[in-house]
Amino acid sequence: MSLSIGIVGLPNSGKSTLFKALTKKQVLIANYPFATIDPNVGVIEVPDERLKKIAEVTKTAKILPASIEFYDIAGLVKDAHKGEGLGNQFLSHIKKTSAILHLVRVFEHVEIPHVSGRVSPKDDIEIINFELCMADLKIVEKRLEEQKQHLKTNLTSEQKKHFELLRLFKERLEKGLSLRELDLTEIEKNLVKDLQLLTIKPIIYVFNVDEKSELLNFSSRDLKKIFNLSSLDGEAIVISAKIEAELVDLSEDEQNEYRREFGLKRNCLNEVIKASYQLLHLITFFTYNSQETRAWPVKEGTKAPQVAGIIHTDFEEKFIRAEVVNWEKFVQYGEVGCKEKGLWRIEGKDYIVQDGDICYFRIAS
Ligand code: GDP
Repeated sequence: MSLSIGIVGLPNSGKSTLFKALTKKQVLIANYPFATIDPNVGVIEVPDERLKKIAEVTKTAKILPASIEFYDIAGLVKDAHKGEGLGNQFLSHIKKTSAILHLVRVFEHVEIPHVSGRVSPKDDIEIINFELCMADLKIVEKRLEEQKQHLKTNLTSEQKKHFELLRLFKERLEKGLSLRELDLTEIEKNLVKDLQLLTIKPIIYVFNVDEKSELLNFSSRDLKKIFNLSSLDGEAIVISAKIEAELVDLSEDEQNEYRREFGLKRNCLNEVIKASYQLLHLITFFTYNSQETRAWPVKEGTKAPQVAGIIHTDFEEKFIRAEVVNWEKFVQYGEVGCKEKGLWRIEGKDYIVQDGDICYFRIAS
């Protein structure tokens, strides 16, 4: 299961700065054999206070956080679809990601030129979104062309639906409108899954504001209003990538002191990671044994056998039952206490794992 976010934005919007800050929060790569040593990929720890508290009870030597991958997607510029910059090369990376983080430049700086000559979040968002739409349009048009050959024959109802969807997509994309607002059903999404369309992926906008700006403590709703972006097709977050990149090397106490000193009320980097996690519709469950306590990401609504399969592929098939306790109860009463109070529940194949569950899976030997 790929849980990855692609960071896009115009040149000089602060992507590398944000990516650098994020990669300081990389988890040990050794635990993640799938993460190759690609400098554009970071496997980032998801901050979770609950894990620390659970580990205080389990007292294991290792504590392993949940993680998500961030990709630094370079080369997306105005008119990329016409071959500007690196043309459509950015596509190869972004196609693989499950969601998009769009970093929008809000900070002004005389020595750091803006590619369009002036800072305008609304224009930048339109430029990038238009490029993403054009990239999708190319794919949709190609598929429509391929399908036309079959039109003479009798189409199955599924093929018909597919064709209609593609026509609808084409219409929207030509107008520069993303596809994520179409509110597609799961069936429709599955029909077009293989196309790996970009504007279907969920998106979050991150406004990169100047470190000294009062905007830093504004809510994203206020910023949307200020920049005339009320119809944005995704959530927004405010950050100063520069501050976060500088702070990330400091201890937690030092960071807090610095934030207080600069009147910064939030840990923006953690907010970005958490919001990205939510964007992917992920929840967290926990496991522990004598060696390690671990947080795992899983898609909302996943049933226990499939969740067990995340730990080990064999486990899904060999699943017998799950023994589950809520993390708060576990922290309050401990393992034995929870057992004595009957708080460990036995759950079967249809149980949908909940955020904050501590799970032990019984597996057939
Ligand atoms: P990229 O081209 O989008 O990857 O942008 P970079 O991360 O390389 O940033 C371009 C320049 O902007 C660098 O000199 C950064 O130090 C600077 N920069 C990035 N974020 C901020 C910020 O929040 N405030 C200020 N003042 N400068 C920033």
